[in-house]
Amino acid sequence: MILPKSNRLSADQLAEITQIVGGFGCRIQPIVGAVRTIYAIVGDERDDLMITRLEGLNYIDRIDKIQSPFKLMDKRSDLASHRIQLGSVTLGEELLVIAGQCTIDPKNPTLMYETAAAVKEAGAHVLRGGVWKPRTNPYAFQGDAKSLDILMEAHRRTGLPVDAEVMDEQQLKLALDAGVHMLQVGARNALNYSLLRAIGRAVAERDTVVLLKRSLHMGPLNEFLSAAEYIASFGNPNILLCPRGTSPTLDGYRNHPDESITPLLKEKTWAPVVVDPSHSVGRASYVPACALAAVAYGADGLCIEAHVKPTQGIGDDPKQAVTPDVLAELIAQARQLWTLRRPTKVEAGA
Ligand code: PEP
Ligand code: MN
Repeated sequence: MILPKSNRLSADQLAEITQIVGGFGCRIQPIVGAVRTIYAIVGDERDDLMITRLEGLNYIDRIDKIQSPFKLMDKRSDLASHRIQLGSVTLGEELLVIAGQCTIDPKNPTLMYETAAAVKEAGAHVLRGGVWKPRTNPYAFQGDAKSLDILMEAHRRTGLPVDAEVMDEQQLKLALDAGVHMLQVGARNALNYSLLRAIGRAVAERDTVVLLKRSLHMGPLNEFLSAAEYIASFGNPNILLCPRGTSPTLDGYRNHPDESITPLLKEKTWAPVVVDPSHSVGRASYVPACALAAVAYGADGLCIEAHVKPTQGIGDDPKQAVTPDVLAELIAQARQLWTLRRPTKVEAGA
């Protein structure tokens, strides 16, 4: 990572460092921040001669040589001061709540509009709505591009930024063209490196936020953070890490709840952690406890499936979605816990 003395390099300076690192098989990826731009060296940056040549340039302040497979997402990275803004919320300053339907029913847009208004009223900051759905059963409803219009209309009606999952490049383009604010990478695609790359490339010049779910089969945390690095390496570090339960399941729950990895993630990365209790436990009645546990573990946000009439919902909603009154109570409790919960001296490294 190259840190210049000025807030950003001139075109000539950028061309010079690009040429130097190019000679060592690397490329430069500018990461544009609100105040200053830093320049990631993408590739194997351990070559001493390359570093020495860069350090010799009078406009370079220093080179950060983080030895990490996820050097941008690493807590020691210069991006640690990066703040992600979503609607009215700056991550880390307030508990972020994403809520809405698992799946939008294209035959019943009114339900989605009512859900959108209700989750806003309950205190959510971002509206989620499944347009395209990854379904285990190939004969189950797979989602419908028409639902994208419904999602954007719900955005216009409420003013809430919206979140939708994309599973391929065509959906990615449609979602970005429509103006979706947050792209969700689902658990099934969290290790789909071609898709992660395509998303990284597509959001590079935008302020889009990516909610990266943890895969059902992800083992070491480094695997999760490296998946995030794939996206960040194209220049947009607005990535939220989303534990959502893993395999094997814990009896009675849909997955094995994993909100407890939050402090472990926070030791390694600066990226905010937004826990999805709905897919972890898979039952509306268990969702509040799991959500509160996540906040107690230090989560920066929650992603919760909610529906005005879960029994009339499709996808996961009949089982998992909480009603707006439960959501409102849960958000109120989660906020209290959030204010109570300050990092302890041990966690803060004091
Ligand atoms: C969802 O958010 O509705 C979903 C399918 O999530 P996951 O990828 O975590 O299963
Ligand atoms: Mn779902």
